[in-house]
Amino acid sequence: MNPISDKKFPWITRNRYLIAGPCSIEHYDQAMSTAGFLSGLPQMAIYRAGVWKPRTRPGQFEGLGEKALPWLQEIQKKYNLPVAVEVAQAGHVEKALDAGMDVLWLGARTVVNPFSVQEIAGALKDNPVPVMVKNPVNPDINLWTGALERLINAGVPAVAAIHRGFYFFEESPLRNAPMWEIPIELKRRFPDIPVVCDPSHICGSTENIPEIAQKALDLEMEGLMIEVHPEPGKAITDAAQQLSFEELTSILGRLKIRDVNAKEQHSNRLDRLRLEIDKIDTELLEILTRRMEIIREIGLYKKKHNITILQSGRFREMISNRLERAEKYKLERSFLLKLLQQVHKESVRLQQEILKDDSSQKNE
Ligand code: PEP
Ligand code: MN
Repeated sequence: MNPISDKKFPWITRNRYLIAGPCSIEHYDQAMSTAGFLSGLPQMAIYRAGVWKPRTRPGQFEGLGEKALPWLQEIQKKYNLPVAVEVAQAGHVEKALDAGMDVLWLGARTVVNPFSVQEIAGALKDNPVPVMVKNPVNPDINLWTGALERLINAGVPAVAAIHRGFYFFEESPLRNAPMWEIPIELKRRFPDIPVVCDPSHICGSTENIPEIAQKALDLEMEGLMIEVHPEPGKAITDAAQQLSFEELTSILGRLKIRDVNAKEQHSNRLDRLRLEIDKIDTELLEILTRRMEIIREIGLYKKKHNITILQSGRFREMISNRLERAEKYKLERSFLLKLLQQVHKESVRLQQEILKDDSSQKNE
């Protein structure tokens, strides 16, 4: 069993996988009509709403604060929905717990700061409720899992991770880079912590939400956190990415929920194909080992004859020669480039070790 947590997050199941609600609560009618609509969806698990909003620049709408908490209590009772709010300070936790909020979540800007996370964990100690933790803004998996650990150590009964993408500098149609390998690695390290994907904050607009949501489900993520607003164009925060009721209904109708566990009828065929993959991976490992053995020999030669590790002309030639063959081998160029760069990086590291190590020369 994983050392971090063996407790499943309540409410999220295979069929009820949706955490949805407005980015921020702006007024009573908006909070209520959104809850009324969402409570009718069979996929609905938890109502999310921002009450304390972290804003990038001062002077912007920072949420209604505790004034909105009684409305959330009303939603719990009237629509029988568990509710989740974002907390960023111990004071928020106290107010949210006093108001009987079912779930709390930590935002991406809070998770970057271990002092804030520890303060929140401390405030939860006497009265813990389930907590969801967004990934930090920067792609640092240890910061993300570190926040989960701080909460579990404080006695939080169940945690979930929310994948909302990572800040990146380049122009892109997405607001935040998904970097899927990071949540996948989190799942590998902590198989018992459910991962929920937040396509709204990854996309930053409504356009790519269906594709990102489907990909998340196909990558075995347990839930989706999606922002909805009765009139997205008039939303005070994150207007471009909030879905209208109709848009959300249409997206949910088109999402494919695929089998997580391959059933009997698939298992023979899948087992056979997986066996082939296992064999090919063994061959790949053997080939890599052979390559690295030659790299070591070259390293020893370079050391003896005082030649630099990096011969950039040779590196360029090697990359372009391999990339020219990408099409023939039906391999995506960008994938092949990344693979060759990784292999080369490891080769350089090996040779650096050889050049550092005086004993290798004596052994020659
Ligand atoms: C939010 O969920 O509205 C929010 C502020 O998200 P994030 O912390 O991912 O930026
Ligand atoms: Mn938002």
